Amino acid sequence: MNKEINLIIKQEYVDNYKNGYPLLSKESILDLNILGCEGSVLNLVDSKNKFIAKAYHGIQNKGYGWILSLKQNEKIDVDFFKTKIKEAIKHREDFFNSKDTNTFRIFNGEGDGVGGLTIDYFNGFYLLTWYSIGIYELKSDILEALKQSVDYKGIYQKKRFDSKGKYLDDSDDFICGDKAPEPLHVEENGVKFAIYLDDGAMVGVFLDQKDVRKTIRDKYAKGKTVLNTFSYTGAFSIYAALGGAKKTTSVDLAKRSLPKTREHFSINDIDPDTQEIIVEDVFNYFKYALRKKLSYDMVVLDPPSFARSKKHTFSANKDYVKLLKEVIQITNKNGVIVASTNSANFSMMRFSDFISQAFRELKIKFKIETSYSLPKDFRVNPKFREGDYLKVVFIRRF
Ligand code: SAH
Repeated sequence: MNKEINLIIKQEYVDNYKNGYPLLSKESILDLNILGCEGSVLNLVDSKNKFIAKAYHGIQNKGYGWILSLKQNEKIDVDFFKTKIKEAIKHREDFFNSKDTNTFRIFNGEGDGVGGLTIDYFNGFYLLTWYSIGIYELKSDILEALKQSVDYKGIYQKKRFDSKGKYLDDSDDFICGDKAPEPLHVEENGVKFAIYLDDGAMVGVFLDQKDVRKTIRDKYAKGKTVLNTFSYTGAFSIYAALGGAKKTTSVDLAKRSLPKTREHFSINDIDPDTQEIIVEDVFNYFKYALRKKLSYDMVVLDPPSFARSKKHTFSANKDYVKLLKEVIQITNKNGVIVASTNSANFSMMRFSDFISQAFRELKIKFKIETSYSLPKDFRVNPKFREGDYLKVVFIRRF
């Protein structure tokens, strides 16, 4: 490991870090030239050279690094990460003991004390996701800590940073242990998912929507026609169908969404031919549905924060109102819209404003029935509420 670097923090930020704020912001650093390479361990100090906190340097869209400890004599080594991982696992005991769920997040970045790193569990297999070069530089200690903390069948990784130069070497996502079957079958609330740990950036399911999926299945789907937009591998559609939906329609632009959604229906004993799966730009589909006077009892709207297709560029921040207005028009009276966003750029308050604005502009009344943020396994740092990026609202349209 590199030697530790003393980094002077501007006076107005000192208390913030002392109080536990975990993100090392660019603005708080007095002299950026001292930072050293990514992966360096930093001792944040005040202008009188008094210790504030220990951090590592890693550049992520959000900042220049993450605080690791408020103890001056803390060594950032295998034991340090082992303590963090063991504590994180303790918080997921209910999940490990669950009879109908064997996939969930066991380590959620700054929520578990190490920003820039997440670890997901897939029925005996572990997936590490590195969000900066800096955290990836600490890989050997973190990997060793994980190996010493859990019984694993195999360990995989994803790099969520621009892998240039030396970071391109191990392009393989498999790290050690046994290779997982492709697909690897996992279960969430008794629903099966087909996971591909070594097939591109995404593995087949977004684990942060588990509570929303369950609510759709248990409380909303029965007897309803359901449109799932930006459907990816169809997770919401599968839950809706299992909850007794009359029919599901899944729409996604990506060609792979068709076979993957069919596969998800099949492994849950639903004949995929009884469901509709459409590969199409959602924006075109809305136009088509309006023209054909199609409408649905329930519409799930879970777009990416930002997307570019041939004809459209979408940014949740700018275009959510417009998108909602399209959805409202193809939702039956008394129907439900599940509006979701994972954009960290705006708050729940702002999201609620988007919803009100869309309905107001169409002069249609609505009621918010329930809302969700991240589930329990996606632990959030109370000093870093921005980390709770997920916002999902169940809206009744009148
Ligand atoms: N709702 C999904 C996750 C969505 S991920 C789930 O819960 O599993 C975002 C998806 O949006 C991707 O599958 C991507 O292919 C799709 N997408 C992006 N832009 C799109 C567009 N204009 N029309 C349709 N799908 C789009």
